[in-house]
Formats: sequence, structure tokens, C-alpha cells
Amino acid sequence: MTATLIDGTALSKTLRADVGDRARAMSGAGRQPGLAVILVGDDPASAVYVRNKVKACAEHGLHSVLENYPASLTQTELLARVAALNTDACIHGLLVQMPLPPHIDAQAVIAAIDPRKDVDGFSVHSAGQLMTGLPGLRPATPYGCMKLIESTGMAIKGKHAVVIGRSNTVGKPMALLLLQANATVTVCHSATPDLGQHTRQADIVVAAVGRRNTLTADMVKPGAVVIDVGMNRNDQGKLCGDVDFDGVREVAGWITPVPGGVGPMTITMLLVNTLQAALHAAS
Ligand code: NAP
Repeated sequence: MTATLIDGTALSKTLRADVGDRARAMSGAGRQPGLAVILVGDDPASAVYVRNKVKACAEHGLHSVLENYPASLTQTELLARVAALNTDACIHGLLVQMPLPPHIDAQAVIAAIDPRKDVDGFSVHSAGQLMTGLPGLRPATPYGCMKLIESTGMAIKGKHAVVIGRSNTVGKPMALLLLQANATVTVCHSATPDLGQHTRQADIVVAAVGRRNTLTADMVKPGAVVIDVGMNRNDQGKLCGDVDFDGVREVAGWITPVPGGVGPMTITMLLVNTLQAALHAAS
């Protein structure tokens, strides 16, 4: 079997077009959705991430503000900016790019963001909403993974899903979203003795580890949906995921490529969350 490719770039395009239409309609009514991004320091990777987020807003009818501060910014000063943006009526989504300099308590900063504007979905409040099944803003990457799984047309209800990785930003929220969709969920991590024993039983595997070739063909049930969140470099320096793509695609039913799978969906779901926050503020 050769797996069907789940095209994250194409799905992103469709979702972004919808966000654009709805954002422009809101702007026409004088309620343009707005995202504020705070970047502290000069980490080059973070600079690229925030630039891409702001660019995506501009391309899809969202207002955006990028505040870039030197690494010497104090926690008090940062909290003051968060407080100001919390009360800014033009801003519906607010995110502080991680990582922050070591003298700043990242948890305190995330906790200071108005939960209604927490478009990253990283706060304890947002995590609690997800945990308890309340509506709220979901972390962009796992939210995007759900859209990719749904795009296969396979019913998630009743399926066995295995999530590899248990980070607060990807693995845990991914497991909760799958659980909410009525999958039976197993979460594996670095202390799981025999990973393959679990993944071989899975109808859906989400790999969010950060180590290439974590999932190989012999670890996959024929026909399974395989979502690869990982972002690694191979020996040639090319971007690759956690999944041995060439091997696994011969066994799986559906598979996301890297690049072109989960990656494009992350910023897309940030736009979706900002639109949702703006719609909520307007209701
Ligand atoms: P993380 O915080 O480092 O978490 C990695 C998880 O993998 C941990 O829970 C760890 O287990 C587990 N793990 C490590 N080695 C393992 C092994 N041999 N077997 C099973 N589990 C193992 O990373 P993350 O932030 O969740 O990100 C994971 C990957 O996704 C990274 O490559 C990251 O770059 C990528 N990512 C991509 C996007 C995107 O937009 N495409 C977004 C976010 C992240 P323990 O908890 O036991 O340590």
C-alpha cells in the first residue's frame, strides 16, 4: 500500500482563504480582527517565526502589531505591555514568542494574558478549558493536526490513537483533543519501553518527539493515519520529521509529509484562533 499524502499546504490555503473572507467581512463592519505579537530579544529563529505570523495576518485581512524589545526588557516592563494589549480593543489575540530571556518567568507572562486573547492556548486557563471540555482557544499545532486527521474523512470516534510525546504544547493537548473526539488514546514518551508495541495497534499515530526515524514502517498498522509533527534535520541538513517517511508511506493509509504537512497548519490555526477570539469579542 502507498499512503495518500495529507497535504497541509493545500488544507492551509483553504482554511486561510476562509479566514480572509470572514476577517474582511468583520472589517467591513468596523471590527477587523487583530493580533499582537511580542518578541523579546534577538533570537533569529524567533524573529523568523514572528515575521511569518505578522505576514500571514497582513495577507488574510487581519490587523497585526509586532512589538520587538531588547533582551534587557524587565519582567515588569513586559507585564505592563501585556496588560496594555489586554485592554486594547483593536487586539483580539495576543502572543508572547517563546523562548523568553532567562530572567523572565515565562509562566507568569503567559498567565497575565487575558484568556480570551490567549491565541497560543498555552495558559493554564486555556489548558484547563481543554482538559474539562469547555470551549476555548486550542494550541495551534495540535489543533492543526486534528484538522489534518479530519481531512482524511476517517471517523475518529472509536479509533485507537497513539500520541508519541507529552509536551504541554503538542503531545498533551493533542491527546486531549483526540479524546474529546472520542478516540481511545495512548500517550507514549521517553520512558515507554516498547514504542512499537503501542503504535502497531494504532489507527492514528501522531509523532511529536523531535527525533528522526522515531516511527519506522515495522511500527505502523497497515492503513493507519500518520501525522508527523517533528522538525529535524537529516544528514544532508534537509528538514525532516520524526517519521521514516519513505518506509512508513508503504504501510500507512494516510501520511503527512515534512515539510508541507503540520508546519503550514500551525500559523493557519493561529489565524483561525485570532478570528475566533474576535468573533467572540464581537458577540
Ligand atoms: P519536546 O517538548 O521536546 O517534547 C518531546 C517529547 O518527546 C517528550 O514528551 C519526550 O518524552 C518525547 N520523547 C523523546 N524521546 C522519545 C522517544 N525515544 N520515544 C518516545 N518519546 C520520546 O518537543 P515538542 O515541543 O513537543 O515538539 C516535538 C517536535 O515537534 C519537535 O521536533 C518540534 O520542533 C516539533 N514541532 C513542530 C511544530 C510545527 O509547527 N510543525 C510545532 C511544534 C513543535 P519525555 O516527556 O519523557 O521527555
